[in-house]
Amino acid sequence: MKRDGTDPYVPGHGDASWSVTHYDLELGYKLVGNRIDGDATLHCRADQRLAALEVDLHALRPSKVTVDGRSVRFNHRNGRLTVSLPTTLETGATFALRIRYAGSPRPVPSQVLGTAGWEELEDGAIVASQPHGAPSWFPCNDRPDDKATYAVEISAPNDYHVAVSGELTSSRRSGSATTWRYEMRHPMPSYLATVQIGRYEVVEQASSPVPVRVVAPMDRPRSGFRAAFGDQPAMVAFFVDRFGDYPFDSYTAVITDDDLEIPLESQSLSTFGRNHMDDDWDCIRLVAHELAHQWFGNAVTLAHWRDIWLHEGFACYAEWLWSEEAGVKSAAARAAHHYERVRTDRGPELILGDPGPELMFDDRVYKRGALTLHALRLQVGDAAFFDVLRSWVSAHRGGNVTTADFVAHAEQVTGQDLATLFEAWLYQAELPALP
Ligand SMILES: [Zn+2]
Repeated sequence: MKRDGTDPYVPGHGDASWSVTHYDLELGYKLVGNRIDGDATLHCRADQRLAALEVDLHALRPSKVTVDGRSVRFNHRNGRLTVSLPTTLETGATFALRIRYAGSPRPVPSQVLGTAGWEELEDGAIVASQPHGAPSWFPCNDRPDDKATYAVEISAPNDYHVAVSGELTSSRRSGSATTWRYEMRHPMPSYLATVQIGRYEVVEQASSPVPVRVVAPMDRPRSGFRAAFGDQPAMVAFFVDRFGDYPFDSYTAVITDDDLEIPLESQSLSTFGRNHMDDDWDCIRLVAHELAHQWFGNAVTLAHWRDIWLHEGFACYAEWLWSEEAGVKSAAARAAHHYERVRTDRGPELILGDPGPELMFDDRVYKRGALTLHALRLQVGDAAFFDVLRSWVSAHRGGNVTTADFVAHAEQVTGQDLATLFEAWLYQAELPALP
């Protein structure tokens, strides 16, 4: 049976017939020549009767595949690795799928979504996978609703720092290479797993409520660094107050030596470019934005990409909240400003609750998404609004959600009928008036 993937926004990725509970990844990485040697063991479960399955793996070549220790037949084409199981598995059966692979990792292209995944820097590497880049560096079931825990071991030359989503549990030096081991003990979708390699130093900023740090080039500009990233511990404290407990065990912002067009969130780690070390509000707001994704997007993750506003609208609203908290400009003033911008936008018609893959990262998904939350806040009042946000995270952290879940949740927490409000903001092209 040919499987076409699970999400129309990211066609050809993911296989809904099975899922992964834990990834064990052992990678050797050579910067010279950009080469990965990988050994991946996926602890899996059959979600239906299963005779074969498909794994996402882009450009890298598998050399050997075993299921529960038995060598099996496989076929690798167009980023999909088809694995024949030695015996048909019943629904609920668990199995270990081990894949040895190697090659030069490169970003996964997409005509609509652009490229994403493992990318070489001038002197290092980054992984920016949202939404379809994870198969550029490890074999995975690449769908956002398949969350798993991870253990990732990577060896790289001694003079490089390696940062991975999760907690560093060991680093061992042997000859010219160091092997770094990280564990992510909270469920994570494949697109939020990341690796960052560069000549970095670690700046510890806070130890409470969780360690907060920046991993950055040694020759960073001091004042720009302090202006953009210096408030991270205060941001964490503020967001904990508004959104509830920080959902992971630490938070790391990696600043690459290269400039990056946009920063990107991964689980427990965000990536910025050298150009983001600046006292400009546009840098500070992005630091708040990526941090807020730890609650909205990473702990609580969409089940389908059409619900992207559940990530971007919330992270954008968090920028406005921080703007007010930091005394820059009130959230209401930000809302009024962006309301006019969205209202006069001449872009193609956009339905926030299902924008389509072409408009998935359109600026209006962010701004109209944030305005939708502001409208909810105006309608239900501050106390109920922040109750909705906090209980949304505590009810769903580690899981996947839909827009319908959020609407039902907001109605249940506030005791109000919000159908008309959400219908207008999410499913009509016309911009409604703020309440
Ligand atoms: Zn974002």
